[in-house]
Amino acid sequence: MSDKRKSQKTLDNEAYQQPDNSGHFGQFGGRYVAETLTNALQELEATYRELWRDPQFQADFDHDLAHFVGRPSPLYHAERWSEKLGGAQIYLKREDLNHTGAHKINHAVGQALLAKHMGKTRIIAETGAGQHGVATATVAARLGLECVVYMGAKDVERQALNVYRMKLLGATVVPVTSGSQTLKDAINEALRDWVARPEETFYILGTVCGPHPYPEMVRDFQSIIGREARQQCLAMTGKLPDALVACVGGGSNAMGLFYEFIDDQDVKIFGVEAGGLGVESGEHAARMAGDRKGVFQGQRSFLMCDDDGQITESYSVSAGLDYPGVGPEHSYLREIGRAEYVYATDDEALAAFRGLTRMEGIMPALESSHALAYVEKLAPTMNKDQVIIVNLSGRGDKDIHTVAAIDGLALNNKSDLQG
Ligand SMILES: *Cc1c(COP(=O)(O)O)cnc(C)c1O
Repeated sequence: MSDKRKSQKTLDNEAYQQPDNSGHFGQFGGRYVAETLTNALQELEATYRELWRDPQFQADFDHDLAHFVGRPSPLYHAERWSEKLGGAQIYLKREDLNHTGAHKINHAVGQALLAKHMGKTRIIAETGAGQHGVATATVAARLGLECVVYMGAKDVERQALNVYRMKLLGATVVPVTSGSQTLKDAINEALRDWVARPEETFYILGTVCGPHPYPEMVRDFQSIIGREARQQCLAMTGKLPDALVACVGGGSNAMGLFYEFIDDQDVKIFGVEAGGLGVESGEHAARMAGDRKGVFQGQRSFLMCDDDGQITESYSVSAGLDYPGVGPEHSYLREIGRAEYVYATDDEALAAFRGLTRMEGIMPALESSHALAYVEKLAPTMNKDQVIIVNLSGRGDKDIHTVAAIDGLALNNKSDLQG
């Protein structure tokens, strides 16, 4: 008994505290940017540190999360699905019920509050499929701030509906025609804009990537997910969960769920990447399935690159997971063995999308469906009195066109719809 107490004490003393003062998570993270951005990032870091400890800022953030985002999001016991899988009890953390349909609004609201506090008049953002662009345009509209969203020209074409949503919200969408004309090029362009006009501009970044302090700051804004989930799980089951599962694009919804539980060594943590057409095919976004690391878009982490270190293009059926880099804290959690990273293929994710929709009446985003696909493998290996919390990062409405196209249907064709 005394031994146990002692080891508990040691654990407490070694409570997880990352990143260090220079923004490193072990060998990962950091701030690899042009000289001209260093000042802007230092200003952001200083303001953030001050405000995150400020009770008034916390009260303002909590107020917006409750009244604008609609928090707390429910923790839902998926009883039919748990029964079918025949193992652990599965609980869905319902980030899909947030305003604008995903977790991204959490960090958009937080960063917008910072922008306002810093007296910035202009918001910029990057977006891939448009979900982060929509969340950013939403908070900018609410605060009456100018908003410019950079988006790869290919994505502008593929995501016409979200482009129009952003325009309705008053944002200017700038198509980026350099490079592969997708998300990574949009981020480069947003960073270039910021360098040119740092005084009046606030860059709202969409995930736990980029130069310090973004990975830490976005994680902190998203950590409300795990804090709520912990309380809800204790209230509903009387104990902590046995496992957490979340999909990992850049990694913000996953860090948001995981962070609160990192010191609870008995809680297993699984991050699920996009396996695309299969990791052997090369057409995927499973950065952690390989062993390549390097500096990309301001930070050091695992990534996808060729033998010469050139970043390679990723692929996934879900746009939100289709990115060759990953947040540095995930790389660190993998390295210290605290989290395990697995992947689900397009086909597995699509099957999970259909399964949850039919079984629970909840249509998940294709990104979240990757996490669900892994739960389908994990749950049957566990007991009926064990608990899995899976982060349902977003709702699937935005993906209906993609699923219909895979079914060979076109939604603007009436006979296809009625068939
Ligand atoms: C953007 C997005 C993701 C991926 O981003 P993370 O930063 O990894 O969370 C996952 N799910 C949904 C619904 C998204 O919109």
